[in-house]
Amino acid sequence: MIKHTVTDSFTYLSSQTLFHAIPEAMLLIDDAGHVMLSNPVAQNLFGYVENELRGMKVEQLMPSRYQEHHQHYREVYFSKPRKRAMGNGRDLVILNRSGQELKVDIALSPIVMEKGLYVLVTLTVIDRRRQAEKALLASEERLWLAKQAAALGVLDFDFKHNMVHCDERMHELWGSSPDEIMTHEKFLAAIHPSDRAIHQAAFNSAINSAGNGEYHAEFRIINPVDGTERWVVIAGQVHFESARASRLVGTVRDITKRKTLEKELQIHRAETEILFKQQIAIHTASAIAHELNQPLTAISAYSEVVLCAMEGGTFNTNEVKHALENCVKQTQRAGHRLHELVTFLQKGEMVTEELNLNAVVMDALKIVHSDGYSDFHQILQLEPNLPVVLANRLHIQKTLVNLLRNAVESMRAANVSLPAITIAVKTLKEKNLVIVSVLDTGPGIDQEIVSYIFDSFFTTKKTGIGMGLSISRALIEANGGQLWVDPDVSNGATFHFTLPFAS
Ligand code: ADP
Repeated sequence: MIKHTVTDSFTYLSSQTLFHAIPEAMLLIDDAGHVMLSNPVAQNLFGYVENELRGMKVEQLMPSRYQEHHQHYREVYFSKPRKRAMGNGRDLVILNRSGQELKVDIALSPIVMEKGLYVLVTLTVIDRRRQAEKALLASEERLWLAKQAAALGVLDFDFKHNMVHCDERMHELWGSSPDEIMTHEKFLAAIHPSDRAIHQAAFNSAINSAGNGEYHAEFRIINPVDGTERWVVIAGQVHFESARASRLVGTVRDITKRKTLEKELQIHRAETEILFKQQIAIHTASAIAHELNQPLTAISAYSEVVLCAMEGGTFNTNEVKHALENCVKQTQRAGHRLHELVTFLQKGEMVTEELNLNAVVMDALKIVHSDGYSDFHQILQLEPNLPVVLANRLHIQKTLVNLLRNAVESMRAANVSLPAITIAVKTLKEKNLVIVSVLDTGPGIDQEIVSYIFDSFFTTKKTGIGMGLSISRALIEANGGQLWVDPDVSNGATFHFTLPFAS
């Protein structure tokens, strides 16, 4: 300890004496970063004696990870020296002789002397309490930021005094002023009457000392000031004292936006479902109409023949009998088709089997002939030893029948002199597919409408429904294949469909 008597003059109080007396650690550094002077507190802090510290590079007194940057900062500082704290709010760390890292605050003061520029460095070790305060401040700041970001309100329920301590956000949501004391009753009064029971159940379960004290509830609150309704979610934890709830700390979040979105989605889903059901109803009705259209047209034609004959007064009994028999046949056929359709629609699971498409083509031809569509010349180009495909027989048969009927109808409508249909079945080995093509000698499809013919309800026929091709395409696709029309429409119409090999 340096002793001076009261009679001492301050003139004798050298700067050296003051430097040694100061309770903070101090170093005098030259512009090349060398320690020129150190006081005992600094020597103690770094664990070096004065001689050792003198001439040491200041970077040696800090962890290696900071050394490179520090050199740069030091040069910058010496180019613009001024009295200031170091670190711009960052934590500063020094390294003592035993390799221990210590957090410090550092102040820098430039000193200009004859020999050049020096800087006086004052180091203060941040004590534990200050470190804890700093950490608390930082964590409070983080909490505040998190609260702001999540728009959280905080409530602290004091059961002993029947008070709910609320932060600003909580008061805002509950429509109370920040200086107002929130009681449990006021807290409950803001809850939407329809949601009070839900909230009460969650609350009762949370304050039950036999449980885990978790409090979680979603409910609406009505702002008593402006009557606005908002959805909130509360999450908290109850603390118990002698098996009695003493405190509940929790957060409140406004979830109105989420709830509104959920509701909109629900409405949208319901609307989509209605639309979907309508589509199914339309498609089912169309399929029924498609099946009935042809027999009904035939019945109507036969009935007209009978009517004409009866009106004319002179009718051939055999002809009338024949017409009426056909009416009965067509009626039975319509009934049969409806039955088939219902069976088809009722089948939830698609039954597939290994099919030889050559055989399916022959079956389809038989059906169209017996349906009265036999006025064409048929050319078959069937490949022998055809690999089998895995598909639903009824689906493929139906598609072929549709294509053949369309071909006959178009050739009939155009009064083609040589109506012919070519059916070719080939394999596309490189693609493991069987391709079936149906070509007719009709007028083909107008370029303007070719892109619409697979649309539901698209028809150019007086009595058409426009469902045949769209259903056929859906059936082929359901069996893993594709159905399309040749874009070259100059020479009749050509439809193709593919189906993958079974193996
Ligand atoms: P529709 O019951 O009206 O025949 P489709 O879906 O079977 O319904 O066919 C839609 C339209 O495609 C037909 O109205 C017709 O214009 C055209 N079309 C289909 N097949 C042929 C074909 N082979 N030749 C010419 N046009 C065709």
